Amino acid sequence: MTTTHCPYCSLQCGMRLTAGDRLAGQAAPEVTPWEEFGVNQGALCRKGWTATGLLKHRERLTTPLLRDRASGELRPVSWEEALDVVASRCAELQSAHGADAVAVFGGGGLTNEKSYLLGKFARVALGTSQIDYNGRWCMSSAAAAGARAFGVDRGLPFPLADIEQADVLVLVGSNLAETMPPAARHLARLRENGGKVVVVDPRLTPTGELADEFVQPVPGTDLAVALGLLHLVVAGGFLDEEYVAQRTVGFEAVRDSVTAWWPERVERVSGVPASQLRELARMLGEAERVVVLTARGAEQHATGTDTVLAWINLALALGAPGRPFAGYGCLTGQGNGQGGREHGQKADQLPGYRMIDDPAAREHVAGVWGVVPDSLPGKGRSAYELLDALGTEAGPKAMLVFGSNIVVSAPNARQVSQRLDALDLLVVADIVMSETAARAHVVLPITQWSEEDGTMTNLEGRVIRRKRALTPPRGVRSDLDIIAGLASRLGATADFPTDPATVFEELRRASAGGKADYAGITWERIEEEGGVFWPCPDLTHPGTPRMFAEEFAHPDGRARFHAVEHRGAAEVPDADYPVYLTTGRVLAQYQSGAQTRRVRELPDQGPFVELHPMLAGRIGVAEGEPVRLSTRRGSLRVPVRVVPTIRPDTVFVPFHWVGANLLTNDALDPTSRMPEFKVCAVAVSAP
Ligand code: SF4
Repeated sequence: MTTTHCPYCSLQCGMRLTAGDRLAGQAAPEVTPWEEFGVNQGALCRKGWTATGLLKHRERLTTPLLRDRASGELRPVSWEEALDVVASRCAELQSAHGADAVAVFGGGGLTNEKSYLLGKFARVALGTSQIDYNGRWCMSSAAAAGARAFGVDRGLPFPLADIEQADVLVLVGSNLAETMPPAARHLARLRENGGKVVVVDPRLTPTGELADEFVQPVPGTDLAVALGLLHLVVAGGFLDEEYVAQRTVGFEAVRDSVTAWWPERVERVSGVPASQLRELARMLGEAERVVVLTARGAEQHATGTDTVLAWINLALALGAPGRPFAGYGCLTGQGNGQGGREHGQKADQLPGYRMIDDPAAREHVAGVWGVVPDSLPGKGRSAYELLDALGTEAGPKAMLVFGSNIVVSAPNARQVSQRLDALDLLVVADIVMSETAARAHVVLPITQWSEEDGTMTNLEGRVIRRKRALTPPRGVRSDLDIIAGLASRLGATADFPTDPATVFEELRRASAGGKADYAGITWERIEEEGGVFWPCPDLTHPGTPRMFAEEFAHPDGRARFHAVEHRGAAEVPDADYPVYLTTGRVLAQYQSGAQTRRVRELPDQGPFVELHPMLAGRIGVAEGEPVRLSTRRGSLRVPVRVVPTIRPDTVFVPFHWVGANLLTNDALDPTSRMPEFKVCAVAVSAP
C-alpha cells in the first residue's frame, strides 16, 4: 500500500494505491481512500477513483518511434537510436540557424523535478531561450496580477479549507463542483457555518447551483462587474479605510477610476441587474471575512490580468487579503499548475520565481548550475507566440514537447497544427499516442504518475510527494532519463541527474532566497508533515500555510492597487458571427483528454454544444441534433444539448476533444500573454 496523489488536477487529492503489482500477483492496482490527508480527507472525484485505468492500458506506448522519411510512417527504434537522432538533428539545426532554432515546450502536469530540469536543459544543454509551457494558458493572468498586487504569486495564499470560515465567498469563473468536486465540500461547510456563496459565470453550472447568489454576466465582462461592485463598496461606505491606509498603496487612482461605474452602466455592459449588484455590494460590505477566488473563467481573456486585478482591488478595498479566513486566491487548474510555474520552464523565469533578466538571479542560478551567467540565454517567446513562430524564417525549426497535447489545447488550433507540420523536427514524450504525438517525427514513451517518484505543489502552495508504487512497463523511460540522455549527447558538462531526489536537492539550492523558496523542504519533511508550504527558507522554518498576515511581498510590505479599465473582448458578436462562444470543462474529462478519454470507466461523449432553448428554437434544432459552429478561424459540427442554464446569447463547448480550440481566438493578454479561450464570436447554423 502506497500513499500518493491523484495524477490529475491541482487539488492533488491524496489516495492510497494497493500494491496491485506483479509481486502481489494482482492484475491491476486499486485506489483506496487516504482519509488522513487533509486536503480531500479521503474524498475523490470519479477521475481520481479511476486513475489506475491508464496504467496497464492497451494503448500505452512502450517503444520509441521514429518517422521513416521514405514511407512517412512511425517505426519502432531503440532508445539509443531515438536519442541519437534527436540530439544530432537538434545540433545540426542549431549549427545552421543558431541556438534558438530548437524550442522546448513543457507542461503544468510535470513534477517539480521535471519542470526544473527541463528549464535547466533548455538554458544549459541547448542554450535556447525558446522554452515555455502550457501553464501559460492556465493561470498566467492570475499569476501576473498576483505578483503585481502582492509582490508574489501563490495561487491560494491560505489553505483551501480556510474558506469554510468565510462570511462570503465569491467564485469568479470557477466550476469547482465539476473540475475539483471534493473542494465543493468546503462550500457546503461554509454554508452550514452561516456563510454565503456567490458564483459569477455566464453558465449556471453545478457550482452555480450551490450558490446563494448567482451572477450571470455576458462573457468577457467580469471586469466591469468588479468595477461596479467596487464603486458601490466605496459609495456605500464599506471601504476598510484603516486597512487601505496601513497596508496598501495606490487606492486613490482606483477610487477615481471606478467613480463612473454606476450599477446601471455595469448592467448595460454586463447584463447583470443593477439591483443585484447593489445587493451583492451590501452583502460584501457587511461581511467580516470575504474570500474572492478567480479561475479560468475570469482569467482566460485578452484582458485577464486586468480582470483579476479588478477583483483583487475589490478584495483589498474590503480589507481581505492577509486577514484570517479572508483574502484573494486563484484556483489553479493543472496538477502541478503551481509548482510548474516556479522552477524555470516559463520563458521569462529561472527557478525560485526569479526573473531571467535580473542579473542577481542569473548569477545565483548560474552558480548552482556551474555555468557562467552570461552563457544563459534571455527571455524567450510565450507559449502561443512560440507556437505561432514555429517553422517560420525567424522561428524555431525543432521542438521538444513534454507533458502537453498542443493540438487539442492550443487556441486557433488549426493554425497551430500547420505550424507543427512546418517543423523539421517535432519530438513528443508521452504515455499514449496523443493527437500531438501522432504528428511527431520522434515519439518517446514515458513513465507515468505512480511509476515514478517526485514532488508536486498543489493549488495551496503545499509541496507533496507522488510516489512510485508500481514497476513501469518494459521499454519506457522517465522524462528525467530522456533529458539526461539528450544533455550528454549534446555535450553538456553540467549535471543532469536522473534520480528525482537528487534533482530535488539541487532545486532546493536553486530556489533558495527566491520568492518560491524550497530550501527548507525535504522529502522527509513532506512525508512527516503531510506536505510543506513554501516559502520555507530553512530546515527549522515551519513553512508558510498563510501568507501576508503581517506584510505583503513588495519591498515596503504593502499591497498595490492597480487602476484598470474595462475593455471588451477582442472579438464580440456581429452580423456574421452573432453569438458568444465560451469554452470549459466537464466532470469526467481532464484537460486535453489524452488521459481521461482512454479510461474505460469515464464517459466519453465527445464534443457537444450547449444552447439555450431560445437560441435552439431560432436556429430550428432540437436536443441531440447536429449544428455547425463557425468562427473566423474554423468550423465544427457537433450535437446540441438544449439547456436553460446558459445565457441565450452564448453557447458553450468543452475543450477536451479536438474541436473547441479550432474555434477559439488567439488574441493575447498584453501582460500575461494568455489567449482569449473564454470568449469569441460564433455563427451557429443547422448543418
Ligand atoms: Fe483528482 Fe482533482 Fe478529482 Fe481530486 S478533484 S480526485 S485531484 S481530479
